[in-house]
Amino acid sequence: MCLFCKIVNKEIPANIVLENENFLAFHDINPKAPVHVLVIPKLHVDSFNEVTGETMAGMTTFIQELAKELAIDTNGYRVITNVGENGGQEVKHLHYHVLGGAKLKWGHFSDADPKDYL
Ligand code: AMP
Repeated sequence: MCLFCKIVNKEIPANIVLENENFLAFHDINPKAPVHVLVIPKLHVDSFNEVTGETMAGMTTFIQELAKELAIDTNGYRVITNVGENGGQEVKHLHYHVLGGAKLKWGHFSDADPKDYL
C-alpha cells in the first residue's frame, strides 16, 4: 500500500485540514510556503495521467472549499501537481500541492534552455 493510501486508512498520522467522502487535505510534512497543503483522492490514482474528469470535478470543488477554509482564497494561492520523473513526482499517489500565505515566487524550473523546445 502506498504512503498516501496509508494516510487515508489512518495507518500513518497526518495533520488533516479538510475531508469528505472522496478527498482528503493535510499539511505537507516539509512545507515550501507558509501554507502548504496536499490534496488527494481517497481512491488510489497514480498520477494526473490516469485521473478521470469526474474525479477532477470533485477535486476542483474540494480545493475551492479548502482555499476558503485556509483563508487564502482572496489573496491567492497556487495549485500544482507533479507528474512522473520529469515532473519531480516522489509519491505515486495523485496529489495537488496547494501553496499560499505569502507572495509566491515563480521558480527556476530546469537548467534546460526553454528555447530548445520551441
Ligand atoms: P511530490 O514530490 O510532488 O511527489 O510531493 C510529495 C510531497 O509529499 C512532498 O512535498 C513531501 O514533503 C510530502 N510528504 C511526504 N511524506 C509525507 C507525509 N507523511 N505527510 C505529509 N506530507 C508528506
